[in-house]
Amino acid sequence: MHLADILALRPVPAAALLMAITRRCPLTCAHCSTNSLLSSEEHPAEQFSRFVETIEPDERPELIMLTGGEPMLRPRLVGSIASAARRVGTRTMVLTGGFFAPRVPPALDDVAHVSVSLDVFHQREVPQVNAFRLVHALAERGVAVSFHVVGTGPHDPYLTEVIETIRREFRDGVPILVGRIRAVGRARAWSPADERPRPGQLRPCTMAAWPTVSPDGTIAACCNQDVLDHRPVPGHLRLGHVSTDSWRSVRTRCRTSPLLRAIRTGGPQWASGRSDGGYCGSCRLLGTDQEAPPHPAIAYLEQQVIHSQLGAGPAGFMRRYGEARFADLVMLGRETHGV
Ligand code: SF4
Repeated sequence: MHLADILALRPVPAAALLMAITRRCPLTCAHCSTNSLLSSEEHPAEQFSRFVETIEPDERPELIMLTGGEPMLRPRLVGSIASAARRVGTRTMVLTGGFFAPRVPPALDDVAHVSVSLDVFHQREVPQVNAFRLVHALAERGVAVSFHVVGTGPHDPYLTEVIETIRREFRDGVPILVGRIRAVGRARAWSPADERPRPGQLRPCTMAAWPTVSPDGTIAACCNQDVLDHRPVPGHLRLGHVSTDSWRSVRTRCRTSPLLRAIRTGGPQWASGRSDGGYCGSCRLLGTDQEAPPHPAIAYLEQQVIHSQLGAGPAGFMRRYGEARFADLVMLGRETHGV
């Protein structure tokens, strides 16, 4: 499953499920958005497996994306989720720092896509040559692969250099998702605060489309790290918990909640009619002290927005949420790789 096919699903509500199956990580990258350490929290594997086993073929997500922390610290759980997902027709993607490189763990046998993080911090702990050998080995086994690269901005010289190196090494056959280091997790102490959209701007939140499981099993409507890290999760962003809910009920809440539909359609400031607290800040306030009036045509408007985002394609998504200058790199290798 090529990276472009994964990103093409991003605007579609409940088309995928993100699962952070541990907060633990053996690496100590200074930009870690989840502030992960080897001693970080980890909850019983059974609760994650249980939730995946509630997925039924007729309402399955197309994809389960496993993240952390470092998901490959739980190889048996990765393997069992991937094979359970496969039984109902859902594919699995793993986002990893590749601490095990260049070895390919058997747990990746049932995985459709592996994305390897590569940046100035990861390279200090996982040599670039090992990350490359891992990606070569996975590709030789027929696993779709990509790199997830981050830098400090479009003119970060590291980005230019590493992108050139990857393109040369893999002859433009491996897609590259390029993002920017955000002021969250350990990077909050040193990275500039994120730019926020102007108040009142109509700006749909595509991030509210995929349910996201945090390491403690709480299921949120988006992958915003502040939402995942703080308790309680605002009511309109809490979709359930892996130990008590089913995929069917989470999917239904995600797709039909009037507030989530309004956030996906016009953004949180449009949904709330307020602009204090910034973009995501206004969204979190929405759940605690304000309700947006239901819009009579919200279902129709939402479909129009999704249609427009699907039309913009994977690179269009990256122009909004990634490093726009490098958005087209998610298409590398697309012509030669099947879905
Ligand atoms: S606007 Fe709301 S739903 Fe969207 S990412 Fe921010 S907190 Fe999450």
